[in-house]
Amino acid sequence: MINNILSLEPKVMWKYFHEITKVPRPSKKEEQIRQYLVEFGKKFNLETIVDEVGNVLIRKNGTHGMEDHEIVILQSHMDMVCEKNSDIDFDFTKDPIKTRIEGEWVKATGTTLGADDGIGMAAALAILASNDIPHPPIESLFTMDEETGLTGAFGLSDDLLKGRILLNLDSEDEGQIFIGCAGGRDTTAELKVNFVDIVDKKSYRLEVKGLNGGHSGDDINKGYANANKLINRILYEAVKTLNIDISYYDGGNLRNAIAREAYAHIFIEANKYDQLVSLADKYLDIFKQEYHKTELNITVSISEIDDIKAKAFSKEDTQKILNAVYACPHGVLAMSQDIKDFVETSTNLASIKTNSKSGKVNFTTSQRSSVDSALDDACNMVAANFKMIGADVEHSSGYPGWTPNPNSKILEISKESYISLFNKEPEVLAIHAGLECGLIGKKYPGMDMISFGPTIKGAHSPDERIEIKTAQMFWEHLIDILKRI
Ligand SMILES: [Zn+2]
Repeated sequence: MINNILSLEPKVMWKYFHEITKVPRPSKKEEQIRQYLVEFGKKFNLETIVDEVGNVLIRKNGTHGMEDHEIVILQSHMDMVCEKNSDIDFDFTKDPIKTRIEGEWVKATGTTLGADDGIGMAAALAILASNDIPHPPIESLFTMDEETGLTGAFGLSDDLLKGRILLNLDSEDEGQIFIGCAGGRDTTAELKVNFVDIVDKKSYRLEVKGLNGGHSGDDINKGYANANKLINRILYEAVKTLNIDISYYDGGNLRNAIAREAYAHIFIEANKYDQLVSLADKYLDIFKQEYHKTELNITVSISEIDDIKAKAFSKEDTQKILNAVYACPHGVLAMSQDIKDFVETSTNLASIKTNSKSGKVNFTTSQRSSVDSALDDACNMVAANFKMIGADVEHSSGYPGWTPNPNSKILEISKESYISLFNKEPEVLAIHAGLECGLIGKKYPGMDMISFGPTIKGAHSPDERIEIKTAQMFWEHLIDILKRI
């Protein structure tokens, strides 16, 4: 059967994309695609290196007259996200992806397509294989396991690459050039709590639900509420005015998600139950008012539970926990001074978890910033908050950011190229989440980088698709940039 993506332009790039779809490449199981790359290098007589972590680097000299131009690194990642619809039988470690053209798009049948980042790989391979495209010396870096751990970028040694200009071919919106990303680190705190006996009180579950949640990077500036913060306001006042006790406090889940739900188990004197209900209602009205545009489904509920252990946090520890959650920052801490509407620094109060057995309450937070010093500052700020209540605080090692450089030379070249080809300005942006460029830039200070690519929608899902005309634009832009370096 003729695979019709081979009829698409530019034929050289689609040819390699088609080849790659036949080679299995799940994250952390890249053996087959690595082997393919090594054989590709051999076939074209190009210097090919597999480094200690499993990244592949292929070098090619500059074409005639461009031999002594600056080296350009073409970077893509060799792994793909493997998601399929439940009704199809598909083995990502063996089966070739079935591609098809659907209108303006290329899709796979029932699975992820792997255009993220197969199209970046295909573009690099087409250039490496070519003998009619003018280009400076090329280092083509194919990293492993971008999708589930950035393992390849983390493990990249600081003396592998000779070039100091890097084109990351892993963006998903044609017409946008990325010049920065956020670094991130988690800050966790653990508070040892004392439990005391509770007598003559009834137990209830107080719950805040129905929030959007969202990604702690991409969605941190959307004005969504944090369930941990909302429930804490109710608890704070209920402790003060209704003398409740708290035996269990739980909110949020993943470190990189904004808390959607939170609940607490509380004790209250029976005759104060009605006041508790009015307090919860009052706060529901307040929340609805404060978030009348962004959170339309907030609920606050109280239900009776049977807490036979009748033990709760001591008054002192209760106060510590509520104060710490109250004072803990959440949300955007700073906007970029260089890029309009770009969040530079943020923090997410991700989760609160009670471990009754060990007598501990754990807080998980995560900080992001495209400026390293601001990331340190945000981490210290959150740490200080929890240290003030006597909690043990730890930071993860995290990953570094990529600080936007609006004066970048490669940015200027790629903008000029874009305008001359398409007669319009590209958008220049940064993202408030991690990219491989952050890690690579850290190892190669002064590396001049941009990230761009064709339009891919539905990435990481079986709905993944690439817009055909943008693939051609991406290719034209890429080879034109190479000519100009
Ligand atoms: Zn990707």
